[in-house]
Amino acid sequence: MLSALLLGAALAPAPAVAAPADEAAIRVAALQDDVAWDFAEGLTTEVGPRPAGTPQEARARDWAVARLTALGFKNVRAEPYTMPVWVRGRDQANILAPFPQALVVAALGNSGSTGESGIEGEVAYFSSLAALEAAPEDQVRGKIAFVDHGMKATQDGSSYGYFGAARRQGPSVASKKGAIAILIRSIGTDNHRVPHTGVQMWAEGARPIPAGALTVPDAEQLVRVLHRGQPVKLHLVLTSRMLKDQPSGNVIAEIPGTDPAAGIIVAACHLDSWDQGTGAIDDATGCGIVAAAALQAAKAGQPRRTIRVLMAGAEEVGGDGARAYFKAHGSERHALAMESDFGADRVWRVDFKLPEGHGMLSDRIGQALAPLGVGASTQQAGGGADIAPLVKAGVPVIDLQQDGTRYFDIHHTPDDTLDKVDPLQLRQNVAAWAVTLHLAANAEESLADN
Ligand SMILES: [Zn+2]
Repeated sequence: MLSALLLGAALAPAPAVAAPADEAAIRVAALQDDVAWDFAEGLTTEVGPRPAGTPQEARARDWAVARLTALGFKNVRAEPYTMPVWVRGRDQANILAPFPQALVVAALGNSGSTGESGIEGEVAYFSSLAALEAAPEDQVRGKIAFVDHGMKATQDGSSYGYFGAARRQGPSVASKKGAIAILIRSIGTDNHRVPHTGVQMWAEGARPIPAGALTVPDAEQLVRVLHRGQPVKLHLVLTSRMLKDQPSGNVIAEIPGTDPAAGIIVAACHLDSWDQGTGAIDDATGCGIVAAAALQAAKAGQPRRTIRVLMAGAEEVGGDGARAYFKAHGSERHALAMESDFGADRVWRVDFKLPEGHGMLSDRIGQALAPLGVGASTQQAGGGADIAPLVKAGVPVIDLQQDGTRYFDIHHTPDDTLDKVDPLQLRQNVAAWAVTLHLAANAEESLADN
């Protein structure tokens, strides 16, 4: 269905002029785009995994500066800052009794360390975060808490908020009740033996304890073992260390506009990734999409507004890149912020949060997106982590919502690799972004009255 749609559009007659000057021409050109694929292929191949604040992220930064310069962007530079960095060591879990066997586990970001020799403890079962929160302390104290909450996929990804709470808050809740460690069922929708890592932050007063995610099949295995009714003892090794003040940095690249007073349009993504995979869908493709779309939009001529690509150096571990960007640029006039950080599957819906009186602009964007199979919604756009401080400050936002049905099969796992990217859907993203950036960058409306 989608392939037919994209193929049909790609085979449409070529525009009469060489430089596409309208949305139809931009769509046609963008549906044949190679820049986004080449960017994601290059970053994942030549850099690979790139956790924020590590030498790998520094290589990603240098790589992106070189690539964006070669692509013809202006004012390309890295903007450095420092941040604390959590570094994974060894991840191991073994059932000692009653049925000795190994389980596949990965530590969560900011996990405490068990030390090299690991820890032993009895498993206390909780069906959900709510069950852990409701449990009396004596059911948790001295135990390895296990939260078994099975995530379900949704097209809009909204289930991440609900199920993801077990990862974000579970470790702090378990720590405060005296658990010696916590294991969660991976916040993922696959049935593969790949653990989904991700960040969690210790709440005020919560002592760091070892915190890990079992793969979905391993969590199900542990549940079957528990259901046999005997106490279950585990040996857990999750080693890690924390480093202070490590170098990270955002990469900025611009297509300068003709009218500086009209404000800047930020098109954001993040360069860092988790350590387990090569960060193809999270978020090499997002960076490929925004860079490619900015170039496609610029083919129609120099835009009125500057399009500024922001490749954040640190998103996965707590938004250090977004905060550094806002500190450096928050006082500049921003007309619009957008972000691509939900994989590379097709855009299916557009959400707006524009100032009063901008209905005509959202109508024009909706009409330009309709031929790509994108529907306009009445839900308010909210942006993402890389632009969160801008959104909080009142900068208008447009969200091009991507199909998230299979995103959480792959997200934060060793399986986040280039082969998961569908080149045709990636191009549809570029086309949706390109027409949106083109219309917003050239809009006569004021936008930047925040
Ligand atoms: Zn991401």
